[in-house]
Amino acid sequence: MELPYAEPYKIKMVETIKRSTVAQRKQWIKEANYNLFNLSSDKVYIDLLTDSGTGAMSDKQWGALMEGDESYAGSQSFLKLKSTVQKITGFEYFLPTHQGRAAENVLFSVLVKEGDIVPGNSHFDTTKGHIEFRKAKAVDCTINEAFDTEDMHPFKGNIDLDKLKKVFSENPIEKIPFVIITVTNNSSGGQPVSMENIKAVSEFCKSNKVPIIFDSARFAENAYFVKIREEGYQDKTIKEIAKEMFSYGEGMTMSSKKDGLVNMGGFIALRDEEIFKKATVFNIMYEGFITYGGMSGRDMAALAVGLNEATEYEYLESRIRQVVHLGYKLIEFGVPVQHPIGGHAIFIDANKFVPTIPRDEYRAQALAIELYIIGGIRGVEIGTVLADRDPFTRKNRYPELELVRLAIPRRTYTHNHMEYIAAALKNIFDSRSEAKSGYRIIDEAPIMRHFTVKFEKI
Ligand SMILES: *Cc1c(COP(=O)(O)O)cnc(C)c1O
Repeated sequence: MELPYAEPYKIKMVETIKRSTVAQRKQWIKEANYNLFNLSSDKVYIDLLTDSGTGAMSDKQWGALMEGDESYAGSQSFLKLKSTVQKITGFEYFLPTHQGRAAENVLFSVLVKEGDIVPGNSHFDTTKGHIEFRKAKAVDCTINEAFDTEDMHPFKGNIDLDKLKKVFSENPIEKIPFVIITVTNNSSGGQPVSMENIKAVSEFCKSNKVPIIFDSARFAENAYFVKIREEGYQDKTIKEIAKEMFSYGEGMTMSSKKDGLVNMGGFIALRDEEIFKKATVFNIMYEGFITYGGMSGRDMAALAVGLNEATEYEYLESRIRQVVHLGYKLIEFGVPVQHPIGGHAIFIDANKFVPTIPRDEYRAQALAIELYIIGGIRGVEIGTVLADRDPFTRKNRYPELELVRLAIPRRTYTHNHMEYIAAALKNIFDSRSEAKSGYRIIDEAPIMRHFTVKFEKI
């Protein structure tokens, strides 16, 4: 018998998670006004709200915490982290920040001016926010295949070079401070960008003297996909692939809460000393002195270890296999999910799952609530609730896709948890024809309503 795959780690410390009954959860979600963000974590059995800062650290990371150097200036933990980042990315200059959006805030304070255009592949919300806050424009140049959940393109995070060329030809080059490549492409479903695409974008950008900045939250997961899917990378290590990728850019912002394998933190890394010097001023104003930037010494120590672990093939294989296993299980049960399965999450297609619930009754939200009631599992709606209202007409914006995202925290849940999630979804799927009505909004904030919106059941 062929031996099955098994995780390359064992468990040294456990955290109890509370089971509950369907009746209890019905009551709790009603009290939370049918908004999953309002649930306290002890009322959630399996929490798939996000993979950001929710992962488990290794024994080596916990060990490194104890050795953290809390010196205000010249901390040894800072120096260790800086040399790790230099080794992994090849970028010489490094600034720590308290999380990813803080890195964006500092770097964009230097690079983005009013009226600028920043092309990229489905900019992450905070990235877009920091661009638009400076009265600049983010232009999405992701390939069209990304918007078709059935398309099996292996690199759906790719930039469409023709779309990019169009942006360059329609705008003065001096209005384009940089092109941002998000690896993996979070907003399109954790879909990777190929090295071939990065190379092509880099050649085009170089010929126009426009730099590339990587939004690198899941750069290691992206490198894993390049290794297993792209011709010529099978025999390269993850670290070699990551370094090659960064060689095509001038800098990066990082949310260490993802592929840094820590619970909080971020950083900027750069090739150019002039940009670094300017960013230093903003870092000191917004984040803290340049050798800590909003992070404690121990957290920088744990991050240095985390970055090395996250760029090991064995770890990434277990990480992505777990996500893919859940995805395949759902496909086997007939549950409509986005294809191919991305790196950090499963996206359930609510338009196909519960077409019987009217769109103005928030079908993806209804499905996310049902998953909580049936299994105690917390996912998140990525659909009409999130898309919010048009700022002028105040009418609901209906996005093309109504999704429920199940983000899988790193090294946190077991194989059995994945089986449990799949079974809960199968049960809901098998009785889906009974679902005819959804929810009505009774209170909402003028913007970013999804965090605080209140619903009632129709
Ligand atoms: C999470 C994330 C960010 C923002 O990072 P935070 O640490 O949450 O501030 C930026 N870009 C991408 C692609 C992300 O996934």
